[in-house]
Parts: sequence; C-alpha cells; structure tokens
Amino acid sequence: MTEQITTVSAYAAPAPDAPLERTTIPRRAVGEFDVLIDIKYAGICHSDIHQARDGWGEGIFPMVPGHEIAGIVAEVGPGVTKFSVGDHVGVGCMVDSCRRCENCAAGLEQYCTGGNVGTYNALDKNGEPTYGGYSTHIVVDEAFTLRIPDGIALDVAAPLLCAGITTYSPLAHWKAGPGTKVAVVGLGGLGHMAVKIAHAMGAEVTVLSQSLRKKDDGLRLGAEHYYATSDDATFEALAGRFDLILSTVSAPLPLDKYLGLLRTDGAFVNVGAPEEPVSLSLFSVIAGRKTLAGSGIGGIRETQEMLDFCAEHGLGSEIELIRADQINEAYERVLASDVRYRFVIDAATI
Ligand SMILES: [Zn+2]
Ligand SMILES: [Zn+2]
Repeated sequence: MTEQITTVSAYAAPAPDAPLERTTIPRRAVGEFDVLIDIKYAGICHSDIHQARDGWGEGIFPMVPGHEIAGIVAEVGPGVTKFSVGDHVGVGCMVDSCRRCENCAAGLEQYCTGGNVGTYNALDKNGEPTYGGYSTHIVVDEAFTLRIPDGIALDVAAPLLCAGITTYSPLAHWKAGPGTKVAVVGLGGLGHMAVKIAHAMGAEVTVLSQSLRKKDDGLRLGAEHYYATSDDATFEALAGRFDLILSTVSAPLPLDKYLGLLRTDGAFVNVGAPEEPVSLSLFSVIAGRKTLAGSGIGGIRETQEMLDFCAEHGLGSEIELIRADQINEAYERVLASDVRYRFVIDAATI
C-alpha cells in the first residue's frame, strides 16, 4: 500500500441552512476490499439540498453531500478483484448494506432490511459519518463501486448514479419497451433521464409537464409527444392511453386524474415524493386493475446494468458543469427549476 490519504478537501454544510464552504474531511485508510477513488465529477441531486438543509431532520453535520460520483481508481486494497488503478468508476447512493438479508441476497440492496449505508449523512459500520462526493477523494468497498464503461464521459456519467438508476429501475421492472406507451411526468434531472432511457428501451414516450416551455428539449431527448398538464384538455385527450406513468415530481399531483390516463393493468410509479401524504379514490385503481407504486434507486447489479445500457446506447445526462464555489448558487437554481438538466461539480475546483 502506498501513501494513505486521511485528510482530503471537500465542500460541506457546517450546519443546517448554512451555505456550503470549503473544508477538509477524513477518509479512512484503504482496507483490504476498498478502492480509493480520485473523484473527477459529482452531480447535484435535489435530495442533496433537502439533506444539507435538514429537510428530512436529524442530519449529520458537517455534511458533505454528493451521491452521483464519477472518478478514477487511484489505489486498491490487496483483496480487490474487480478494479485496477486507472479504471473509470462511479459511486451512487449507497456505500454498504447488511449483505445478509433477503433483499441484499436478491441484489436489491436499496431495500436492505438491515439498513444500508448512505454515501453521505449516514454512519458506517464503525459508527463513523459518511461523507459524499463533493470532495476530491473517496474510499469505497469494491462491492459498492460501479464500473463506468469507456463509452460514457465521466462528467455526463456522474448523474447516472442517482438520476439514471432511479428512472432505469422502474422502467425495467415495469417492462418499458417496444409496443409500450410510457409517460414521464416532469422534465427535470430525473425526468430527462427517464425520457432518454425509456426511448432507448424502445417505448413510445410522452412528457407530461406543467407547461410547454421545455417541449423542444423533450422531443430532442427522445419523447414523441409533449403535453401541458395545466391544460385540462390533456387529461381528456390522453385518457386510457399509457401502460406506465413515471412521476418524477415532488409536488403533490391529482392522482385520480393521472390514474385515468392508464390503460387496464397500467401502473403509475412515483420516484419523486411529495412531503405531505396524498389522497385518492380507490375506484381509480379498481376500475382497470391499475397499480399505484413507488420505486427507489436500484441495486448494485442493476446499477451496473444501467451503466452498461447507457454506454451501449450512447446515453449520458445533459449537464451544466460548475466550479465548487458555485454550489450554493446552483442549489438556488435547482430549487427554482433553473437547470438543464443536472449541475455537475468539477472536482478539480474543490
Ligand atoms: Zn439523488
Ligand atoms: Zn440487507
């Protein structure tokens, strides 16, 4: 083992609601099955902002957000078999799980009943806080490290580690493909990846957005149709149309209206979650044997499958590359939906 990096540069929120600022954080020494990653890019996910501002409560501060990480392997532990120095790799929302429960055994670590370990704002198995991707280096067990294929540049690959897998997993589970009609609600960080991936899977894609403001983008990214949900005529025109509706928005939706857009046996799947409970008439799912479901990120095996799929189809995220000192400004722009479609931090500026 060569030099052990224990202190690295990072951008952290020192306290809830405090702006992020440059600091240093500890990284553990490279263990037997660990990979040391020289981070090149980190995406900014909406949930980074929620957590840095303690929207979900009980956050661990100082907090270094970032779970859309792309970089290059700088060192490997003696037991590592999957990776070598120089490999392009990524890290998503988890860095560990119990590895024993039914879900872990099935490759569904995101639903680990023993509690998986978040990439940041969590405690690892030794009780140490985890720090995310807004930093220059990270040490991760190879079992939670993904290979980024050569076909995808690292900057546009970073957002795939959360936005990509969060949309790929339900599209794959509910079998989006040739002959299926998929609607994507919301064209933001998640929605734009859903459109690209569903289109690449062969589905006929429709975007349902509040307005037609981003219509040109939606069609360019792979949608065949684009409708404004602010127009009631949309819900009449599209009644009974879709096999799958993927909602990427966190605003509460009138679910009965949206369920009316499904065909018999269709599914409405939430990957964005409003903070408040929602209500609906159960007749909306009884008529037509419909499914109302949710889905969270994806397992490690499926995340690799997603990366390989994206490389095969030439898919990456649409990004705005920023310097680390622009993170706070970027947060405000994300909250104002003013980004097309993902901010990515150039880690060389951290
Ligand atoms: Zn995320
Ligand atoms: Zn588990």
